[in-house]
Amino acid sequence: MIIKKDKSTIQNYFQDNSGVCGAHADFVAVAEHENDIPTFLVEMSENKIPTTIAGALTGNTASGLAFGGAVLSLEKLNNIGEIKKVNDSIAFITVQAGASVSNIKLKAYKSGWMYPPDPTEKNAFIGGNIATNASGARSFKFGATRDYVQALKVVFADGSKSFIERGKLFSDTEGNIMFDTDQGIKHIKLPHYNLPYIKNAAGYYNYPNSDLIDVFIGSEGTLCVIVEAVLKLIPHFKNIFGGIIFFEHRSDAYKFVEKIKSISKKATEAKLKNSVNAMSLEYFDKNALNLIRDDYPTIPLEAESGVMFEQDVDDNGVDLLIDKWYEIMQECSIDVDKVWFASNLTELEKFRAFRHSIPEHVNAIIKKNKVPKVGTDFAVPEGKLSDIVNFCEKEFKSLGVFNLTFGHIGQNHLHVNILAANKQEYEKCRKSYIDIACKVVELKGTVSAEHGIGKLRHIFLEKMLQREGMKEMARFKKSLDNNAILGQDNIFPKEYLI
Ligand SMILES: Cc1cc2nc3c(=O)[nH]c(=O)nc-3n(C[C@H](O)[C@H](O)[C@H](O)COP(=O)(O)OP(=O)(O)OC[C@H]3O[C@@H](n4cnc5c(N)ncnc54)[C@H](O)[C@@H]3O)c2cc1C
Repeated sequence: MIIKKDKSTIQNYFQDNSGVCGAHADFVAVAEHENDIPTFLVEMSENKIPTTIAGALTGNTASGLAFGGAVLSLEKLNNIGEIKKVNDSIAFITVQAGASVSNIKLKAYKSGWMYPPDPTEKNAFIGGNIATNASGARSFKFGATRDYVQALKVVFADGSKSFIERGKLFSDTEGNIMFDTDQGIKHIKLPHYNLPYIKNAAGYYNYPNSDLIDVFIGSEGTLCVIVEAVLKLIPHFKNIFGGIIFFEHRSDAYKFVEKIKSISKKATEAKLKNSVNAMSLEYFDKNALNLIRDDYPTIPLEAESGVMFEQDVDDNGVDLLIDKWYEIMQECSIDVDKVWFASNLTELEKFRAFRHSIPEHVNAIIKKNKVPKVGTDFAVPEGKLSDIVNFCEKEFKSLGVFNLTFGHIGQNHLHVNILAANKQEYEKCRKSYIDIACKVVELKGTVSAEHGIGKLRHIFLEKMLQREGMKEMARFKKSLDNNAILGQDNIFPKEYLI
């Protein structure tokens, strides 16, 4: 273990993408070998030293930021193993927690395989992606990180280690699960609260008959240190195409998206090969488009919103499928001549850069303003998107602060960003965000669908799970981390642990 104490050296560990200032720690411990971790955690536990696990610190919710105690960094545990083919449809790859997602994706790609989760930020570590159950645009078709984690090697705060494989252990009707560690059997009992059956990254995973591995995925550095993971790979698609469509009315964009979603769902269920079946469906509102207009001056001036889509193709049927997309566009009265089209991966990468440049611009503004980000991460059930978007619009009218909306419309998961220029505005925006969270809960949605709760969204999660749910989570955490050292203040306030 390398211990760093020098203030100027450890400064880099006190900033992530949340814009939160003031993080600090007594020291940073950089694990050189996985065997460093159990002894270190025992020492931290015995001395009750709060320990924050840091990945690449690209998180949006300050969950990787320490406020006192120790930082444990996994940056040197970055090995990526060989790909092991199971059959033509599946392969596995073993990776250490500090491996970057981009390197994992690249290694898979070079061998014809694909690691499908595609969060926009590829410099994140896989440990961070697993701890936040990260997802991205292509989750519309492929699902989130969780869906590709086959096994995890984890270390608990008492120094015990466990190798947990998917499909082996499930909670019983009371939420009990027993599992082996190298120091004996652990017994956990999941909380009771109900989570929505939609894309969700809020609160500890807890559904009837939960797979043990899912309990640790998305636990935001509060239950264990993820040391290694076995990831599932699928064959890389042969071809891809996509486009960006601009709409003068938001309602037309929504109608088009609903149509594509319905056709895609049927195609997936019936395993149809030559059908329209979107891999991603992304949305941009007028303000989001205006934000990047200088870089993309050909965005039509009259555009009120835009939708980007991608479709993967396994054989040579690209032209046929493009024709089918055209047909649907024409049915929706879209002028196909004005659609930006990309018929291969290289062209499509430019559109992905277009999409990615929106959060990048937002992050740059946040850095400049030195005010934390007020960005929603909600998702709502099918049929409820207009309700929440209309509600947000009303909020913004009374707020009068610059805002923009973009994101994963295919999963009713939009990022509404309210960009406060100063502390005063920030307080107003936070209040507005709470109102939005209450509305999301009323609509039976989730307050976080991909970024997690971290240190910034406790209050929203409380709206969703009530105080009793927060208490249950704290009790659950303590059953695995008795001295409550790991990831303090992540998911719920540390006061719940007393
Ligand atoms: C431009 C930009 C775009 C982004 N786009 C997306 C997106 O599309 N989708 C998305 O989901 N996120 C996105 N993010 C957010 C961020 O990249 C993800 O949350 C990512 O999963 C964080 O990984 P990290 O390695 O940076 O972890 P960190 O930020 O360092 O930590 C995140 C959490 O994981 C915990 N953690 C890290 N490593 C471990 C480990 N080994 N064991 C246990 N706990 C651990 C930390 O304690 C913390 O709670 C974006 C960020 C940026 C800057």
